[in-house]
Amino acid sequence: MFLKSIEIFGFKSFADKSLIQFSDGVSALLGPNGCGKSNVVDAIKWVLGEQATKSLRADKMEDVIFNGTEARKALNVAEVTLTLQNDHNLLPLDMPEVSVKRRLYRNGDSEYYINNTPVRLKELRELFYDTGVGKSAYSIMEQGKIDQVLSNKPEERRLIFEEAAAITKFKVRGQEAERKLLRTEENMRQVESILSEVK
Ligand code: ATP
Repeated sequence: MFLKSIEIFGFKSFADKSLIQFSDGVSALLGPNGCGKSNVVDAIKWVLGEQATKSLRADKMEDVIFNGTEARKALNVAEVTLTLQNDHNLLPLDMPEVSVKRRLYRNGDSEYYINNTPVRLKELRELFYDTGVGKSAYSIMEQGKIDQVLSNKPEERRLIFEEAAAITKFKVRGQEAERKLLRTEENMRQVESILSEVK
């Protein structure tokens, strides 16, 4: 799997639609302090479903929308599209290229798309389970992340190995099944109590 391009519009300092294309090998983003290099990394995390504003260096989610400058009016929508080459079908879709898009309006409405089809955040996240690409997976190594990984508790370090061993998906499904089971048991208890009252 290979990150082909990212298109950013209205996200943080990107008031104009900007397309960054990556080619084989190592790519580097260069620029003076404050020009928006880290905003590109934030945009990648955001489009992969990041919900933690702290991790996006924002106080509230609305802060990721371009908030204007002296010369330009603020925008009302932020949109990021990530296009990945999927040649080994690592993403479970039989398509050579997969694009994911996230859009946020200032009124709080948000939209997610996979190949331009609207999806729920859950579906977008599921697409990346066990690929190492998810919002908190190991494909994004920010400053301090290696130290953090080394000093993490063993249980937290284990999550990284689970992602690499492709078992995250099953773990998440197992947790969902357990939650459903608990809800069903609770419903059963309520039904039994109603039945005993009726008898
Ligand atoms: P450094 O090299 O110092 O780490 P950088 O190139 O990584 O800098 P970023 O942190 O990506 O820079 O960008 C910071 C810039 O983004 C600041 O000028 C800030 O004003 C601008 N910025 C952040 N959020 C918004 C927003 N919502 N609207 C407009 N500009 C924003």
